[in-house]
This record gives sequence, structure tokens and C-alpha cells, in this order.
Amino acid sequence: MNNISFADLNLAPEILRALTESGYTVPTPIQAQAIPMVLEGCDLMAGAQTGTGKTAAFALPMLQKLLPLATPSPSPARHPVRALILVPTRELAIQVEASVKAYAKHSHLRSLVVFGGVDIKTQTPHLRTGVEILVATPGRLLDHIEQKTVQLNQVQMLVLDEADRMLDMGFMPDLKRILALLPRQRQTLMFSATFSNEIKRLSEDFLVSPKLIEVARSNATSENITQKVYLVGSAEKHALLAQLLRGSDAKQTLVFTKTKLTASRLARQLHREGFAADAIHGDKSQLERIQALDAFKQGKTSVLIATDVAARGLDIDHLPMVINYEIPSAPEDYVHRIGRTGRAGASGSAISLVSPEEEKYLFEIEKLIKTTIQREAPLTSPAPAARAPRAESRPAPRTDHHVHIRAQHTPVSKTPVHDAWFNKPYEPSVSTRVLAPPPDLPSKPKSQLPALFMRRKVSTPDAED
Ligand code: AMP
Repeated sequence: MNNISFADLNLAPEILRALTESGYTVPTPIQAQAIPMVLEGCDLMAGAQTGTGKTAAFALPMLQKLLPLATPSPSPARHPVRALILVPTRELAIQVEASVKAYAKHSHLRSLVVFGGVDIKTQTPHLRTGVEILVATPGRLLDHIEQKTVQLNQVQMLVLDEADRMLDMGFMPDLKRILALLPRQRQTLMFSATFSNEIKRLSEDFLVSPKLIEVARSNATSENITQKVYLVGSAEKHALLAQLLRGSDAKQTLVFTKTKLTASRLARQLHREGFAADAIHGDKSQLERIQALDAFKQGKTSVLIATDVAARGLDIDHLPMVINYEIPSAPEDYVHRIGRTGRAGASGSAISLVSPEEEKYLFEIEKLIKTTIQREAPLTSPAPAARAPRAESRPAPRTDHHVHIRAQHTPVSKTPVHDAWFNKPYEPSVSTRVLAPPPDLPSKPKSQLPALFMRRKVSTPDAED
């Protein structure tokens, strides 16, 4: 499997050229498995999370299948929506569509991203020009359906990306409404980081005899995440966090909080203490969120505080450290969170600050990942609420887990990344279709985020956290 090249996967020269230009040399495991199945026309249920290369796993065969229908004709009628990609969040929507656009750049296939929080009127003209591949968050797609600005009767491929998160965010009714409008004769691909019973039911409802693929995050990636827990009282968390941020040789740290309020407060406090920190959460406007993310990716800020929803699907290469300031009550979120680090062969560190009230969630997490996470002693003078490590009292983990995450005590090794491509500096992804700024917002000539102009702060279900 590992010796397969993209050329072996029967992809057209124009796609192969785009891949070479993107720096891809070999398919990731999920790509090697999924691409032939999708090309064969099978429905697919894939257990894979962001960081495994799942976007290309569905986008490349999708483009390959649509290529015979590609046309340079300017007529909108010749560019109906043929593939629909539904994703839970705006950020993921933007990322996915940017990837599709990059892979399709040598073809006449058009793509567009639509998501809530921006004026719907700015999206309509672009939909009207015709696009073969539409990436959308469910709520905004329904708005367009209601306004009759989009037709879905020619959709032949549907992708449900991060399906588990769509369910978590309450999108099930929206999904059902959308699916009822699609042609029955179609291919459906579902991607989910976790396989809950609910997800299995969803696949039974929406997929036909799906092929099942389950990949761990690539072995090199997952084994490179070092996990640690500090048992610490809530009142001591801030001091410990600051200490970790100062002491660490990690250049950039993504810090997770449970609430928007804590995220903002923490960002403000850290800023006052001299850290280049910013927050990203659902109360921030889309433009603010993307600017904060871009500043972080470019290294202008070193600490980004995020809530789960806001951080979902973020593709930040080389992120050396994730800190859970508050651990999530849903154990799956822990897996998603620490998946932000240790990606693409790089090593990473995931540190959780756990107060006595949160310990019950920690046990749930350990049950899910079937691993006991190493408890660390406090860094300096013992914090009053810190307690003795109790890892030895926990049952030995089973080793048959599919989430191959190594929990250990040792500091992050600075192992060089094998693939030189992963070392290339981050290039901000640009959303593909230029949406005109609303009239009351001055257009910024330098902005690389034309699709994200906002009139006001909006909190839609796409962004709630
Ligand atoms: P994804 O899991 O789709 O979010 O992809 C994670 C990251 O891996 C993205 O930055 C992709 O551009 C990158 N990527 C995906 N496939 C490959 C590949 N075959 N070789 C190198 N990088 C890849």
C-alpha cells in the first residue's frame, strides 16, 4: 500500500500536475484506500480525521469522475452542481474548498464555498454563474435552497465531512432536509473521526452498501503526540499555563477552553502579560476569526486560544503544542483537539490542565483512547490543589485501540520531519471565489480573504460553540 504513487491511482494528468504543484509525492493511507473505491462508484464510510489527508481522499476521485463533464463554456447551464460537500463549520468549508480549487486548477471544473455569517446576497451571483462542486455548511445551503439560488437535482456525489461533528452540532434535521432534495441515484461518502452508534445509524439511512475504511491518523503522526496531564486546581491554572508557555520551546501553542468567555478572558490576560495571544471563537466575526488564524499561522501570534467548534478542522501545519486549559466533557473532542498537533509526521505535545471537578472527564477520555495519560508533577513550587499522580491506580490500557496515541512522560523529541514538503512555510489559503464586499464595509486591497467580508458579528448555528 505504501509504495503506491498517485499515478497508480488512475488520476488524470491535469490532476497529477496539480498534486505535484501542491508538493504531494505519495498518497496518504486513506487516499490510497479510498481513491480506488470512490472511482469504482462505491459508497464509503471512512473513519478518518483532519490531518490524515481525507480531503484529497474524496476530492481527487470526485474531480476525476467529473472531468468528462468539465467544459470551458461560460453558460451557467453547463455548470450545474454535480458534487456537494457538506461540512460542519465555516473554517473547514473554506479549507476544503481551497483544496478542491487547488486540485482542480488545471481543469474547467468550478468550485464555490458558501457558509453562514456573511451576507447571502454576496454568494448568490457566484452560485448563478454555475459551479460543479459546492462546499457548504448545512444551514446556509438551506437558505440558498429556500431562496431558490441553488439547484441540487443534478448532484451525483455527496460528501458528508466530519459527520460526527455535524451531528454534535445539531445538524441532523438540516441534513435530512437537504438529503431529501438530492437525486436518489448518487454516490455518498461519509467521513467521521469517531464511529458512534448515531453515526452508524446515519450511514444506514444515507449510504447504500458502503465500503468501510478506518485509518488511524498516520502512524508517524499519531505516535509523535506526547500527552501529559497536570492535576491542578482551577485557580492555579492560569499561572501554570503562563509557565508552560514561557518555559516551552514550542514556538506556537493552541490553547483550548470550553467556553467563549474563558477564551476571551484568557487571551486578554495573556496579552497583558506580554504574550502574543489571540482568541478564536463563535462570537468573533468570520473576518476576525480568519485574521486571527492567519496571524497565528504566519507566526505573528504565538498563542491562539480556541473553543472546540472554532478550532474544528483547522489545518495548521507544524503546530508543536496543544494545551487543554479546560478538558472537554465530550471525550471525542479531546481526540479532535490533540489532533491539531503531531500532524504530517511532525512531533507534538498535548498537555491537559485538569482540575478536580474535571477528573471525571479525564477518565472518560482515557477510556475512549484506551490509554492512561501520564500525570506530571507541577513545574515549580507545588500548587495547592495539585495532587499526587494516580496513574498507577488505573487499569492497564488495552492496546487494540484504533486511535494510536502514545501517552508518555518524555519531552517532545525534535525528530526531523521526513517529507521535506511538510517543512515548507505556511501559505495562507485563499478562498477561491471573490465575493464582493458589502457596500458598508470598506474593501481592503491587501486582504487575502475576499469571501469573508462581514457586515456585523453574526452567530449562526454554523458557528455556535
Ligand atoms: P486533511 O486531512 O485533508 O485536512 O489534510 C491535512 C494536510 O495534509 C493538508 O495540509 C493537506 O494539504 C496535506 N496533504 C494531504 N494529502 C497529502 C499528501 N498525499 N502528501 C502531502 N501532504 C498532503
